[in-house]
Amino acid sequence: MCNPYIKDFPILKQTINGKPLAYLDNAATTQKPDCVIEASSRYYRLDNANPHRGAYALSVRATELYEAARETVKNFIKAEAAEEVIFTRGATEALNLLAYSYGMNCLREGDEIVLSIAEHHSNVVPWQQVAAAKGAKLIYLYLDENGDIPDSELEKKITSRTKIVSITQISNVLGTVYPVKKIIRKAHEFGAVAIVDLAQSISHMETDVRDMDADFAVFSGHKMFAPMGIGVLYGKKDLLDAMPPFLFGGDMIEYVSEQTARFAHLPQKFEAGTQNVEGAAGLSAAIQYINSIGFDSIRKAERELTRYTLERLSENPYISIVGPRFSEHRAGVISFTMRDVHPHDVASILDADGIAIRAGHHCAHPLMKFLGITATSRVSLCFYNTKQEIDRLAESLKSVRRWLHFES
Ligand code: PMP
Repeated sequence: MCNPYIKDFPILKQTINGKPLAYLDNAATTQKPDCVIEASSRYYRLDNANPHRGAYALSVRATELYEAARETVKNFIKAEAAEEVIFTRGATEALNLLAYSYGMNCLREGDEIVLSIAEHHSNVVPWQQVAAAKGAKLIYLYLDENGDIPDSELEKKITSRTKIVSITQISNVLGTVYPVKKIIRKAHEFGAVAIVDLAQSISHMETDVRDMDADFAVFSGHKMFAPMGIGVLYGKKDLLDAMPPFLFGGDMIEYVSEQTARFAHLPQKFEAGTQNVEGAAGLSAAIQYINSIGFDSIRKAERELTRYTLERLSENPYISIVGPRFSEHRAGVISFTMRDVHPHDVASILDADGIAIRAGHHCAHPLMKFLGITATSRVSLCFYNTKQEIDRLAESLKSVRRWLHFES
């Protein structure tokens, strides 16, 4: 059966090394549908001006586009108010904002920041910097053999010393979906704030920040069909109100005198300098695109592809899956190793067949160390992928050891 979404993505219609492109690196970044490309390009063709500053028509239009995007994001993640949506360059910048603005001001010596061992470096390194500066400590929730966080870890490690719990909703290596609601509840029992990294979940499952009761949440537009360079920090209004700005300069002030400045209210307080209006317009279009498909259809298509991929990979006797077996809740991020073959070799050989997968540590050194490996090959799926592409992947993987002369 023909995949109804491929036609929306112009980049997918090309060949690589003479073979049709099979793009299976969606956890790194997703491709962009025509409607997003058109929204960004229309902005430059018709509406470009510096927002929030001019009294003329174009500037007003740019401002309206930017603020309409904020409202679209607010509705998409079910935030209470648009001012709780802060635009950033991506998840990494949003996490740095939290570390420097919240962490640096709220942490004291001996306080603890709880992370899972599966966090991306962007949810580790900023906290290491703050912890070192404040005399706080990072505490890691370790995983069981299925990649889950056992309740006993939550009981043991989230305590009255915990001030911040920052956790990813989906592991970008294992594809495990973590029970963020339960973890947030536990954090709140001890009065800690809870941060959720939605980078890997935002385009694959419905987000309701209020139902989760997340204090903060972060994500990147480019992993949800929007342009690169735009992302979001969501925060509860009272927490954001109490935090100092992270970046200083134009647009984030109300009044500047020679020696001091009075800062603007939310959200401008956290948006210094000229903002990425083109990115916001693209993000808005990406959300409308996701909504037009609906998460029920997205989940259904991706669940079936995940099941099929795991099945086809497990037919190869040299492949070991690094991550959970198939379940209704597992995400379509599938890491694996191949006996005697470095993941980079796997990815390069697949590339010759037009198949794009990622290989390496996936910005998750602590997880790699915990698992006792240095790298994996990773296939990450999106609803525009097809079973035919997975069949090509399985066939190409069969040829890898032949290529490397392990077999004749
Ligand atoms: N968190 C997770 C779980 C990720 O997978 C990524 C990107 N791989 C990030 C954070 C960082 O996102 P970005 O590079 O877009 O800031």
